[in-house]
Parts: sequence; structure tokens; C-alpha cells
Amino acid sequence: MKSLQSRESELVSPERQFGVLKEIFTKKKLPSFSEKLDQSGIGTLHPIPTEIFQMNLGKLCNQTCKHCHVDAGPDRKESMSKDTMFHCLSVLATNSVSIVDITGGAPEMHPEFRWLVKELRKLDKKVLVRCNLTILLAGTRYADLPQFYAENQVEVVSSLPYFEKRRTDSQRGEGVFDRSIEALKRLNAVGYGIPNSGLVLNLVYNPAGAFLPGAQNSLEKEFKSSLRKEHGIEFNSLFTITNMPISRYLEYLQESGNLENYLEKLVTSFNPSAALGVMCKNTLSVGYDGTLYDCDFNQMLELTVESEIRNIRDYDGDLLNKRKIRVGDHCYGCTAGAGSSCGGATA
Ligand code: SF4
Ligand code: SF4
Repeated sequence: MKSLQSRESELVSPERQFGVLKEIFTKKKLPSFSEKLDQSGIGTLHPIPTEIFQMNLGKLCNQTCKHCHVDAGPDRKESMSKDTMFHCLSVLATNSVSIVDITGGAPEMHPEFRWLVKELRKLDKKVLVRCNLTILLAGTRYADLPQFYAENQVEVVSSLPYFEKRRTDSQRGEGVFDRSIEALKRLNAVGYGIPNSGLVLNLVYNPAGAFLPGAQNSLEKEFKSSLRKEHGIEFNSLFTITNMPISRYLEYLQESGNLENYLEKLVTSFNPSAALGVMCKNTLSVGYDGTLYDCDFNQMLELTVESEIRNIRDYDGDLLNKRKIRVGDHCYGCTAGAGSSCGGATA
């Protein structure tokens, strides 16, 4: 098996990924996600007016995590242009969307990241940044990020696969746990995660193997107790996220011989309540080149919105709100068990 750190996804083509899923769904006679929605009486998914505007600044990242659905890494060149950022800001200036969720890659590596955050704050938007923690220790250029976040009242959402070194490093790379702990201490030092500071620090858990996350409340208690006792670290909430069977995680499932069982598990754990709360209903996802998607996962599979409006430069909220959400069999990752979204469990 290849080293996880040097791994480059071989499932680059979305068609190949759909093909792999389709083959197993056919072999196992599993209902497609659309069929499942119909069988459960939910039918076609439609959006409500956008509440979360998610901007993906590109695929450049200082890490190469084995579960990464973005296939991000240090050699990736895709990056949002300033022109596309201007289009996003212009849409947001006249829009009631209250939350802007900035992701990547490691969004902080984008040269215009700080400018963008300040512009969004001028528009009075709540800004969430998906920070991988280790970026705070990736050189002097990033060392003052905790202060920058605090000054701009940014909400920080950070992945920490587990509160123990072995499981975190196996998923995100050797030494990532120790650097993540140091980064969390630096965020705590400026007030993040500290009660009544007004600075929100949420952590994201996703399973290290081919299984569904445990109950969010119980895991949050375990994370809080262990991180406080072992490292003196505080945070606000834990979001549990189910690994999506796409990109590098799909490759991992194939290589480890877990793919069929994992897909069956997702299908048999389908939860109609979770299906009613999927994040694509209130989120619009903007790719680095301005292309619009129902969610970040569809973005990685190049499933653009089903609308004549396909790019942020042509934005028309009324037309976009009339679209159907594009679903595929990967969507079972959002509806299994307690559900999964960028904000954790949904049911
Ligand atoms: S830190 Fe995030 S974006 Fe970067 S490789 Fe890991 S999962 Fe992907
Ligand atoms: S993968 Fe995207 S489109 Fe599918 S259910 Fe999840 S959020 Fe919705």
C-alpha cells in the first residue's frame, strides 16, 4: 500500500468514481439514492433560500490527509482569482445570506485570504474558517493567525480526528496531532473556546476507519474531558462528520477491502430525518473558479447546480432557488445514522 503522505488520488475522474459506486450498487442490488428518497416519501430535494455561502478558495494545502475529499495538497495549483472573490462580495453585499464559510485546501494559504475576510466582515457577515490547525505552525507568515481571527471575530472550525496521537496521525500524517495540540493552545491563548470570550472554536471529528461516527454528544464529552485533562485545551462544540465515499477516501476503502461493506452500511443506515436536514438545502457552494454547486462534495465530483445559472458572475438568487438539488449515491454519506454535514450531525 502506498504511503498516505505521498498519496495522489488515482480516482481523479468523477466518472471513474461514479462507475465504482454504480458497480457495487448494481452487484449488491442496493437502491440508488434517488430511489431511496422516493421510497421514503421525500422525493426530489429542493433548496430553501441560501443561509450559508461556502467559498472554496482552492486545493492548496500543507497537509495530505488520507480521507480528504478535496484531494488537496502542497502541489495543487487551483486557486480562486481576486475577480471571482469580487463577484462573491458583490453578490453578498445585496443578499441576506448571513454566514460565509471559507474552506479549501488550507484557505489561509491563499494570498488574498486576509483581505477577503476583512471585506466580508465589512459586509457584516459571520465568517467561518475551516482551519486545519497545523497551518498555524507552518511558518512566520501564519504565526499571527490566532490574533487575526480574533480581531475579525472569525469562527474557527478545525478537524481533529481524535483526541489521541495514534489515530490522528494515521489519518492526517505523522506529527499532526502534536502540532494540532500546539495550535489549539495558541487559539485558546487569545480566547478561542474560552467561555464568555465570544470567540468560537469548534472541532470536527471523522472516523479513522470504515465506520460511522458515534453519537455526537457522547464524543463531545469524551473529547472535552480528554483534551482538558491531558492538554488543558478548551473548545466549544464537536461536529461529527461521516466520511464520504469519494476521492481519497473511496480509494482508501477500495485498497483496504472495505468498500462494499461501507456502502451497504451507509444504505442500511439511511435516516429520513437526516435526509430532510441535508446541508445542500440551505447552502450554496462556490468553487475556486466561481462555478456553483449544491455542496462541497458535489463540487469535488464536478456536479454543477442544475440551473441555467452556473457561475457566481451570473448569480440570480430567484432562479437558483427554483433548482432541483443534484444527488448521487455518494449522498448516502449525508443521511446515514444521525446524518452528516459541515456543521455535524443533522438528525
Ligand atoms: S487539511 Fe483538510 S484540505 Fe488539507 S489535506 Fe487534510 S482534509 Fe484535505
Ligand atoms: S452530498 Fe451534497 S447534494 Fe448530496 S445530500 Fe450531501 S449535501 Fe446534499
